[in-house]
Amino acid sequence: MTEGTEWTQAAREMVDRLPPMPANVARALERVPRHRFVPDEFVSEAYHDEPLPLSPDSTISAPHMVALQLEYANLRPGLKVLEVGTGFGYLAALLAELVTPGGHVYTVEIDPSLAREAIARLAATEYADRVTVVVGDGRKGFARHAPFDRIVISCATHAIERDWVIQLAPHGILEAPVGDRWEQHLIRYRAEGTHGRFEKGPACRFVPLRSRSHGIYRSAN
Ligand code: SAH
Repeated sequence: MTEGTEWTQAAREMVDRLPPMPANVARALERVPRHRFVPDEFVSEAYHDEPLPLSPDSTISAPHMVALQLEYANLRPGLKVLEVGTGFGYLAALLAELVTPGGHVYTVEIDPSLAREAIARLAATEYADRVTVVVGDGRKGFARHAPFDRIVISCATHAIERDWVIQLAPHGILEAPVGDRWEQHLIRYRAEGTHGRFEKGPACRFVPLRSRSHGIYRSAN
């Protein structure tokens, strides 16, 4: 067996063990080589349903959580997406799969060394032309390329930032893990005209967003 078929098989088995998910999300999880987006010492664990450390302040989420994030974002080809919290770029690659053809992913990472890792890994896996990695504070979104059809926050936040909502396209969807360091809920905001609708989703646990400000949706805790 070649290295290629081995990981494809491992990815397929991983998807089979996860709770049911939409077909496009399953296909993306089968296509993106998770072992290329984790540190070398964890390659053998890449297809387990577990989070893995990328750095002292960064973690690649467990695949079942990633599947939930992707399902929740309701992605389709052609969409322009902003992610906050790139890590090594795994979710960005999955987002790119789901918006291909015609879409694009912008992903903001506050840690320059993680951003460098992500750029190299996304290039090596042929996502470079569909994903733009930006070093910066994603709390401010990424005004230069707004509006975005989807905004996916990959780190826990105490509040939904006003800038994210402002940078959302009409009928766009924003999702973020909102809560304290230990427990958050996936919150989905759908832009509807001049207003919007918040929905509270499942409990989750993400690495905290570094920096804090006053947003427009606060968790009770
Ligand atoms: N999406 C990644 C997981 C990232 S974990 C993956 O698929 O593997 C959350 C990331 O958010 C960390 O890499 C952390 O450095 C980054 N982060 C924290 N605060 C941030 C901020 N204000 N702006 C951008 N990135 C931030």
